[in-house]
Amino acid sequence: MKKIILTGDRPTGRLHLGHFVGSLSQRVMLQNSDKYDEIYIEIADAQALTDNADNIEKIRENVIEVALDYLACGIDPKKSTIFIQSQVPELCELSFYYSNLVTLSRLQRNPTVKQEIKLRDFETSIPVGFLTYPISQAADITAFLADTVPVGDDQLPMIEQTREIVRSFNSTYGNTLVEPKAVLPENENCLRLPGIDGKAKMSKSLGNCIYLADSPEEIKRKVMSMYTDPNHLKIEDPGNIKDNPVFIYLSAFAKDEHFKKYLPEYKNLDELKAHYERGGLGDMKVKKFLNDILQEVLEPIRNKRCEYQKNIKEVYEILYNGSKKAREKAILTTSKVKEAMGINYFEDEDLIKKHIEKYQ
Ligand code: ATP
Ligand code: MG
Repeated sequence: MKKIILTGDRPTGRLHLGHFVGSLSQRVMLQNSDKYDEIYIEIADAQALTDNADNIEKIRENVIEVALDYLACGIDPKKSTIFIQSQVPELCELSFYYSNLVTLSRLQRNPTVKQEIKLRDFETSIPVGFLTYPISQAADITAFLADTVPVGDDQLPMIEQTREIVRSFNSTYGNTLVEPKAVLPENENCLRLPGIDGKAKMSKSLGNCIYLADSPEEIKRKVMSMYTDPNHLKIEDPGNIKDNPVFIYLSAFAKDEHFKKYLPEYKNLDELKAHYERGGLGDMKVKKFLNDILQEVLEPIRNKRCEYQKNIKEVYEILYNGSKKAREKAILTTSKVKEAMGINYFEDEDLIKKHIEKYQ
């Protein structure tokens, strides 16, 4: 069986550190491992419309921003097919057929969707498209026969829903679709990076992000304003590292070499954490260290982005060619799906012959 990756992001804003540690850096690593036969990266504009139907300008503006972030992080269009979801209409077709295999109560039980509904105040009026977006995600994944989906852990219920749809489709219509598995980041701090405000998830919709394209000044300002331990008032006070986003970011990004370079009085993160916990270490010093590391990580990404920003026409060409290539694959899978379901009337000579004989 071919090894195929499908993953993507909603163009609801620029990409941020959560995307980087949760999924983007993993994608680049898998892409460069050369172990995959095909890699598809989707800019999920149709999905973004499910909670932005009246804000098309936001989506139109951010498709290119997400594409620039991908290229800046090292997604290579020669190895990975970057495409725009709405340009592959077969994905809608598949969603329509899959929606017959899922119950309303199953959709209402999805914990991530439940949380997102609350967050968006949709409780009394959920757009149907929003509630059913896990079905469209199943279409995105299966259209490419992907077996590997690198994501953050908020996406696990979506992958589970996709697996259920695949099992149901294959047992109803015959073996056609591939059951995918999620690939999560190894570092548990990267599964769901919190926001700079300490909220559970850094998210474009919550406005608590450090963006990959932020300027050095913006990064510094955001790091210095970060939520820490509210009870760590004086430097001598013992501090809490557990729900402290500054330490969670350090666990995601700090390497021993960063200590040598920026904070040589500590050997590693364990030593720094221990000092903070016993008291005597101020937030400012820790934040300054985090800022040094983030500046180092984000500088080359920002520079590469600047290069692509000078060639927007070329980026649109990458998206056009990627969408064309993705569509070719989705057409193939959709015709297999329709054949399995028996709705390929014009290719089914036996059916036509049977009906001729019926009325002879
Ligand atoms: P929105 O608020 O519009 O839903 P988002 O910030 O949640 O935007 P998505 O486009 O929904 O971003 O998510 C794209 C991918 O990035 C998914 O695989 C998701 O798991 C991952 N991801 C998003 N935010 C984080 C985060 N804070 N930590 C780890 N992974 C994340
Ligand atoms: Mg999201």
